[in-house]
Amino acid sequence: TDTPLKYRRVLLKLSGEALMGDEDYGIDPRVIAAIAREIVDAERAGAQIGLVIGGGNIFRGAGLAATGMDRVTGDHMGMLATVINALAMADAIEKAGGVARVMSAIKINEVCEDYIRRRAIRHMEKGRIALFAAGTGNPFFTTDSAAALRASEIGADLLLKATKVDGIYDADPKKNPDAKRFEYLSYDDVIARNLQVMDTAAFALCRDNGVPLRIYDMMQAGALMRILRGDSLGTLVGP
Ligand code: UDP
Repeated sequence: TDTPLKYRRVLLKLSGEALMGDEDYGIDPRVIAAIAREIVDAERAGAQIGLVIGGGNIFRGAGLAATGMDRVTGDHMGMLATVINALAMADAIEKAGGVARVMSAIKINEVCEDYIRRRAIRHMEKGRIALFAAGTGNPFFTTDSAAALRASEIGADLLLKATKVDGIYDADPKKNPDAKRFEYLSYDDVIARNLQVMDTAAFALCRDNGVPLRIYDMMQAGALMRILRGDSLGTLVGP
């Protein structure tokens, strides 16, 4: 367990749905407590951690638009949902003994800080976990794009996308028992095989800025620490 870290600064993307646990809406306190412990452990081991959290457990703009709402208003609601999630996760991180700062892409100053890149980097250097809320601050984007954007901005060594599946498969592993998990894929492989790793804008940003990404199963205990030390869990996407 004294293995040095392979990755110093990482951006972790959690989907909003990941926070629901077995519920179908909202936040499961046990789930965020478990995730928070892993994040605090990783920070104590010397990692600098930025976090982007989705909002799909509360609202998604596209879903609201399907019910007849104006899309941009729906996206505003979705972005606010990510702020709610970030506040909950920051609280869980502090309960777990870490220090957290929520930084929003839209101004909500009574509730959290504004996102300012240099300040975010400073937080991470000081051992504070920076939670980047409100996505990119713009409608028609996703928190995957926000994760790719922030990872590029802060010079992350790795973007970690925590999902419910332990990587990228050549077929749906839930439907096909013979589905094989890829250990590694190049950016071009992902595009050529039309694998939906993240939305296209997000993926293009990672590729163009040379940010490698690892897709892994967030429910696997200790996975974050193992990946930071260089274990090949899940699937790595790189050049
Ligand atoms: N959103 C947005 N701009 C952004 C990021 C998010 O408008 O830069 C809105 C959008 O409506 C999205 C919602 O916030 O559906 C929640 O984010 P996302 O769907 O990415 O969450 P996840 O699927 O990761 O839970």
